[in-house]
Amino acid sequence: MIYRDFKGLKLSALGFGAMRLPTGSSDGDINEAETEKMIDYAISHGINYFDTAWGYHDGNSETVVGKYLKKYDRSKYYIATKFPGYDLKNMGHAAEIFEKQLEKMQANYFDFYLMHNVCELNIEQYLDPQYQDTEYMIAQRAAGKIKHLGFSAHGDMETLKRFLEKYGSEMEFCQLQINYLDWEFQEADRKYKLLEKYNIPVWVMEPLRGGRLCELKPYEAEAVDKIRPGISQTELAFRFIQSLPNVKVTLSGMSSLEQVQQNIGFFEEEKPLNSEEMKQLLEAAKGMVNNKTVPCTACHYCVSHCPAELDIPKLLNLYNEHYFTDGGFIAPMALAAMGEDKQPSACLSCGSCAAVCPQRIDIPGTLAKFAEMLAKH
Ligand code: SF4
Ligand code: SF4
Repeated sequence: MIYRDFKGLKLSALGFGAMRLPTGSSDGDINEAETEKMIDYAISHGINYFDTAWGYHDGNSETVVGKYLKKYDRSKYYIATKFPGYDLKNMGHAAEIFEKQLEKMQANYFDFYLMHNVCELNIEQYLDPQYQDTEYMIAQRAAGKIKHLGFSAHGDMETLKRFLEKYGSEMEFCQLQINYLDWEFQEADRKYKLLEKYNIPVWVMEPLRGGRLCELKPYEAEAVDKIRPGISQTELAFRFIQSLPNVKVTLSGMSSLEQVQQNIGFFEEEKPLNSEEMKQLLEAAKGMVNNKTVPCTACHYCVSHCPAELDIPKLLNLYNEHYFTDGGFIAPMALAAMGEDKQPSACLSCGSCAAVCPQRIDIPGTLAKFAEMLAKH
């Protein structure tokens, strides 16, 4: 196992993500026997970082992970869990949630604690002084119940900037969705660079984009498989992450013992991409995205022509994410922070925007399609 130095700790470069554990009849029905085997294998093969959260598996992930880690010496592994700020009704309830989390995980302290999923939907509340949830966690760190405090983010650049402006000096790490496909598509490159400016190391989530990068479509695989012949698409995605020096821990949500074994194999030694491989992979990623998305350059020429005052580039950006992912939560989450009159369905189909778009995008048609997809999901 590769280890990374972080404030005197040796963290396994691969972290065990406990959001996709094996289950039975429902998401909350975790297969404990299989999970125990996975945790045992992970620990005996060098993983020492375990990442869970209040909401994973209907709240049962923390309980099950805590239960099976308990049999090991507490100094041999690191627990990370999170404050559920993605659900606005939890805002202002940091104390009761935190105490309950310690109880669920049978722990006296957390090694790593994150303000979960800072995004457009909750940034106002995260920054609103009436709630004090982040301040509460800062106090827990001072009291020794949290060893290291950070946050995870699914929001756009603007949201990330706003959170960092207020809390950047308090945050010790940030968990971001990074993979070669999102490097430009979701501006992971810009977010990564911003965190470097704050001297905040990155923890990676979704390195395989929920498994999407392990099973590329034939037209996508053609460009990707020749980059480093002989290795799998999964391995290539992990090697991309290993090429980013500010990344300390890469989390993979594992669902079977086989996946744990396979992923550990990719972290036995570092084999980062060279500059030519990196260039080819990012080109291939561009091709994958361009094939399925509208080419909005966010020039904003169209915006002043819209009688409904829609944020057209933002909506098209969310459309791209939603369409490429075949659904998912990111676009609905960002849209939930916008008023009813700013949704794709508020488009009047007048066509004024399309008439000035240098990319000749069928904006009303795209927004209508987006509204339809959202209604279905
Ligand atoms: S077609 Fe829709 S998005 Fe375009 S200007 Fe008219 S209302 Fe705005
Ligand atoms: S004019 Fe076209 S490219 Fe420019 S922001 Fe509007 S939709 Fe995007």
